[in-house]
Amino acid sequence: MLSCLSLTILGNQGPFPGPAGACSGYLVECGGTRLVMDLGPGTLARLQLAGDIGAAQALVISHYHPDHFSDILTLRYALRKAKNQGALHGPMTLLLPVDGLDDFVATYIGDGYVDLFDVVPVEDGKTVELQDLSLHFEAMSHAVQSYGVSLQPKTRGAKAGGSQRWLLGYTSDTGPCDALVRLARRSRVLLSECAVAATDQTGIAAGHVWPEHIGQVAREAQVERLILTHFAPDADVASVATAASEAFGKRAWASAIGCTYHLQAPCTHGAGGRQS
Ligand SMILES: [Zn+2]
Repeated sequence: MLSCLSLTILGNQGPFPGPAGACSGYLVECGGTRLVMDLGPGTLARLQLAGDIGAAQALVISHYHPDHFSDILTLRYALRKAKNQGALHGPMTLLLPVDGLDDFVATYIGDGYVDLFDVVPVEDGKTVELQDLSLHFEAMSHAVQSYGVSLQPKTRGAKAGGSQRWLLGYTSDTGPCDALVRLARRSRVLLSECAVAATDQTGIAAGHVWPEHIGQVAREAQVERLILTHFAPDADVASVATAASEAFGKRAWASAIGCTYHLQAPCTHGAGGRQS
């Protein structure tokens, strides 16, 4: 039996959006489950192109950097309106890094909106079961604690640390680290940040990776498909993808806002993805 997962790019830039751009945000749909990973500036508008905001059951914030969460401020207004109109089926599951969780909720959710969310703390090694999806979190290396996410349709029955690969891995923001290698080895499709351009190594100290590095990691981990994201607004995305492809040994895809990848498990041809 095939189980499908679709990944839609709501935003792919950082640390601020370029003209008509948007920062990190990704919609994952699997069966009846709709999950948003990160909600950076500009992504809430893009999310509405894919359906009603109230239809998203869960939101993961990978780490507390504004280019990954700032649209949650206005998401609160949208969810309040939906609830008042009877269009909200229940609180949105909000998965937040445990480190600094209380401060984040107090500052960015506030007493007036806590009823809209069911807050679930995320920590290293934690697995969370949503309706049709299993999620697994791993602590990465970044300026603040950042969590990579592995995703798998539940019907596959994969377990973290098992021999079976998970369908999709998302690196969040990270520099080179053992956790990134483990995430790549666990993933058939890897959605990776690539915030540092090939000719600019200044971001390395800030906890990001560059195209040659992630291409090499993906090649050694035998990732089937590598999708790059988190580009600087002025990045030469084509050059970044070319450099990553050379290190990967096959094409690395540069994500594009609005693009949807349809991933299937078990795979019948390559990674089963499609860029449109
Ligand atoms: Zn960050």
